[in-house]
Amino acid sequence: MKKLNGTPILPPASIGVIGGGQLGRMFLMAAQRMGYDAGVLSETEDGPAAQVANWSIVAPPDHLPGLRAFAAKATGVTVEFENVSAPALRWLGKSRPVRPGWRTVWVSQNRLREKRFLASNGFPLAPWHPVLTESDLPRAIRAVGLPLVLKTAASGYDGKGQAKVDRLEDAVDAFRRFGSVPCVAEGWVIFAHEVSVVTVRGEDGSAGAYPVCLNRHRDHILDSVVTPAPIGPIVGLEARETALGISQGLGTIGVLTVEFFLTAEGRLLVNELAPRPHNSGHATIEAAESSQFEQQVKALCGLPLGSSGLIRPAAMVNLLGDVWAGGEPDWAGMLREDPGVKIHLYGKRDPVVGRKMGHLTVLDADANQALGRALAARERLIRSVGG
Ligand code: AMP
Repeated sequence: MKKLNGTPILPPASIGVIGGGQLGRMFLMAAQRMGYDAGVLSETEDGPAAQVANWSIVAPPDHLPGLRAFAAKATGVTVEFENVSAPALRWLGKSRPVRPGWRTVWVSQNRLREKRFLASNGFPLAPWHPVLTESDLPRAIRAVGLPLVLKTAASGYDGKGQAKVDRLEDAVDAFRRFGSVPCVAEGWVIFAHEVSVVTVRGEDGSAGAYPVCLNRHRDHILDSVVTPAPIGPIVGLEARETALGISQGLGTIGVLTVEFFLTAEGRLLVNELAPRPHNSGHATIEAAESSQFEQQVKALCGLPLGSSGLIRPAAMVNLLGDVWAGGEPDWAGMLREDPGVKIHLYGKRDPVVGRKMGHLTVLDADANQALGRALAARERLIRSVGG
């Protein structure tokens, strides 16, 4: 099972992803296209990844018998979410490549560790202060000002475990509501845009960064993405260099995404890291020379990376469960209006409001046109069921 450094994992070897969601599904599809026997360690038998996997082990990510069964199958391991324990990844990493490695995942799964790493390496951040106990709150307010955002250090996503507060009393309430767990207080950022950069680093030290994505959120959930972001070449270069610097600083081999706030005066502040492909990078499946998932496979397997350049500008819109509120949308009708729209559905059975069910991608000579068409296509789907 031991893999010599520098010896690539070649098809039809068996490789595996920890986590059973849509990111795992798209990783598996990219791996299968390249001829790998691609499997998943998933908590559910019928999740988006397990549905397409060549093999699956159904167990929580930190369950030892499950990990043993997974280890017996996978000659290389990657992750599709950050809340996998460092000991599990270290254990797996003793006898096979695990990419990204445990350190990258461990730093990015906790906002306190993430901020400490970024601050100590000189990366630009909004003012922040640790809040470990209630008594830290007055000091945190003095350090970052009001309003501030209180965020739980661990297991927050899509705005969960976050509260904007204007007064000390509200901060105390929010801290207690979160269960008095370790938090980070972050100064309120008045940003012009939110942008992200997906990076990839290979075993041979080669690295690439995709063009910047401009991200719009609705109710804290990513709603639409345009790439390349219309933010000018200098800010674009700075965002990509910063993201690559972070990946290098962490010693990451694999895909790492960096989310930024961009202020009105053109300053980039790092918001957060994801040690994996990202929702904002989904358009790379059609719009880039190599998709973020293909790069994830190549980095894991020690193969030379492909180009992260775009073939065409693109836009992506997410399809949340809300789109299904009135029944199954009229896919054919939407495609009759604009046959160029690419449909991606993740195989989730239950279209719960706010749940990511799929996405639409549109390529166009003009990124804004692409966004207009993607938004119009989604609107048609919603109207087709009377929404
Ligand atoms: P996060 O989970 O940290 O990405 O936060 C979710 C969303 O909340 C971000 O995409 C922003 O729209 C908003 N947000 C988070 N932190 C801040 C902040 N310090 N200032 C302003 N808005 C924020």
